[in-house]
Parts: sequence; structure tokens; C-alpha cells
Amino acid sequence: MPVRSKDNFLVFGAPRIEQEEIDEVAASMRSGWLGTGPKVARFEKDFSAYVGASHAAACNSCTAALHLSLVALGLEPGDEVITTPLTFCASVNAIIHAGGTPVLADVDPVTQNIDPDRVREKITPRTKAILPVHFAGRSCDMDPIMAIAGEHGLKVVEDCAHAIETTYKGRHAGTFGDFGCFSFYVTKNVCTGEGGMVIARDEADIQDIKVLGLHGMSADAWKRFSDEGYKHYQVIHAGFKYNMMDIQAAIGIHQLNRVEENFKRRCEIWDMYQEAFRALPVGTPAPEEPGTRHARHLYTLMIDPVACGLDRDQFLVRLTKENIGAGVHYLAVPEHPYYRERYGWKLEDTPHAVALGRETLSLPLSAKLTDDDVADVIKAVTLCLK
Ligand SMILES: *Cc1c(COP(=O)(O)O)cnc(C)c1O
Repeated sequence: MPVRSKDNFLVFGAPRIEQEEIDEVAASMRSGWLGTGPKVARFEKDFSAYVGASHAAACNSCTAALHLSLVALGLEPGDEVITTPLTFCASVNAIIHAGGTPVLADVDPVTQNIDPDRVREKITPRTKAILPVHFAGRSCDMDPIMAIAGEHGLKVVEDCAHAIETTYKGRHAGTFGDFGCFSFYVTKNVCTGEGGMVIARDEADIQDIKVLGLHGMSADAWKRFSDEGYKHYQVIHAGFKYNMMDIQAAIGIHQLNRVEENFKRRCEIWDMYQEAFRALPVGTPAPEEPGTRHARHLYTLMIDPVACGLDRDQFLVRLTKENIGAGVHYLAVPEHPYYRERYGWKLEDTPHAVALGRETLSLPLSAKLTDDDVADVIKAVTLCLK
């Protein structure tokens, strides 16, 4: 008998959606305003207030947010952007689509975040920007990263897909760089189904992002069908179609209201996991660094085949048989053939990320989990190691 029955499979990353979101979406649909409108404007305002940013632009994914931010930097062919090999492919693809050349700097094996010393080694005359990713919700070490950027005149784009609640020395992740990019994908800490947000230090940068994200049309083109009468727009860039809909913002507004409540619940689950797995031969997340708040986005286990008697992939097979879902964040970027072929990246160039990527798996950590769900996960993990 598996720990859970097949029809009760515990889905990884299932969001906690409440009646308020459902009612707000229904209200948007009844109002007839489905596209970008007042709810998007409100979500941008609420989100800026939460993270302490003065400006924000909503878009339809974090991938779009990253792409727009990198396009706004005005990369020229051959310009290099340094990022981490332990990230989702979107971080790297956004650099490529903005016309830049991605360069990988290996992670610190304990924090699993980009190592500022490795970033320093990768600086060349063509380096234009650094793209740190706050992995799993743990803040990157922003002081040395911003110092390196300052010394070399580099831009910084923070990938905050895991890091809505993350802080570093009292400031939210995303407020250090020129741009901070957030995700509201289904599995993320605040979800809108699909969705993203860009914050920027400079208001002019956010105006650029808004124009670039809506076909390159001059300001507030969504107003062109309003009761103020038809307004002509002018196209000032070859832009993209990356705007968020009011239907998405309707979900996000209520999700954001519950961001701290959900965070608290994930902290409880995190502590239960830490306590339960302490005596097992698995690796568990390092404590958060002093002066930071970890957003508790991913709870990762490290399966060292020598210590555990099976490898990560075998562990995943067993966990699935117990009807517990899991994720892998991530196979290191150079494991993927496209990047190896195009950039000649070798696995041995980023050994920490490659080793972590082969041992890591992420357990369910949604605020939706009940104590019984958490007990099932703990029981299943313990069984899989026997
Ligand atoms: C999820 C994720 C993204 C992409 O977010 P989308 O909103 O799905 O486009 C980018 N970077 C990281 C690290 C992510 O986890």
C-alpha cells in the first residue's frame, strides 16, 4: 500500500485559491473588461507597496519580464550577461532573445546561489550586466554583487521568480538591481495562473518596459478605447505583446493579500521537514544567512547516492509510487544540449551547479498542504530511503 492512494496523488506546487479570487475573476468577466485595465493598475500598485518599489509594470510572465528588462538595457551583439547555471532555462533564454551572450558563473555549494567570486572571474570588456537568481527564495549576496556592478559599470537584473517575500538587510529582493523580475506562475508564491512583474529603480525604465511590453506603442495604449474618446497611438519601438489581463490581476490582488499568511504556513511546513529529515542521510537546506529572509519557495532535498544508497532519479521513481509529486530545480543549464552546442559549455566549468542539479529534488511546499499532507510526505521520504 502506497502512503497515498493514486486518486489522492499529492500534486507538486498546487496553488491555494480561495473564494475571493473566484469572485473577483467572475466580477471581471461580468464587467466585460477582461484585458489590461483597472485591476492590473491596482495589482501593480499593491505589489509595489508590498516590495517597497516606487514603480512596477505587470506582464504576462516572468520570462517576459526578464526579456523586457534585458531589451531595455539595449544589449549589442556580443554583450555578455553573467548568470547562474542553477536556474530555469528562461533566465538564460531571455539573455539570448535580448541579443546578449549568456556567461555562467558557478554557484556556492552551500547557498546554491551565484558566487560573487566566480562572477568576478567572468568579467570581460564585453560584460554588460549581471543576472542573479534568488534560488529557492534565498537571497543572493547582494552587497558584493552590487559592488562588482559598481566597479565595472554593469547593470543588474534580479530574477526574483522565487523571491517575492525575500529580503536582504531589510530590503526586498528586486529593489537592488536596475530591474527586479517576478513570476506569478501557478507554482510560485503568489500566482495568477500565468503572470509576471517588473520593478525598476528608475521611473523612466518602467515607462520603457510598459511601451516595450505593448507593441512599442506610446503611453497607455489601453486607454485608446476608453470613454475619453479614441486616442491615436504612435509606435516608437518594435515591441512585444506581453501585457497582463485584468482576469489575471483579479487573482493576483487576493493572492497578494494573503502573501504573508501563506508564507507563515510554508515556514511551518519547512520546519516540520527540517525536524523530520535531520536524522536521515539526505542533504537539507542550509539555514538562512543572518540579515536575510528566505521566501521558502522550494524545499529541496539532496540525494547523495553514496550516503542514501540510491540516486536522485531512483528516489523520484519511488516517491511517485507513494503518490507524492516532486520537482527538480534544476538540472544545471549546461546539461541541456542546446547551450552546450551553441556556447561550448562544459559540465566541468560549473561543477557545483552540475553536482547539485543531479542530487536535488523539491518536495511539495504549498500553503495549501494540510498537516496530514505533510505527514504523508515525511512518511514517504523516510520509506524511500529504506
Ligand atoms: C518560474 C521561473 C521563471 C519563469 O517564470 P514564468 O512566469 O513562468 O515565465 C524564471 N526564472 C526562474 C528562476 C523561475 O523559477
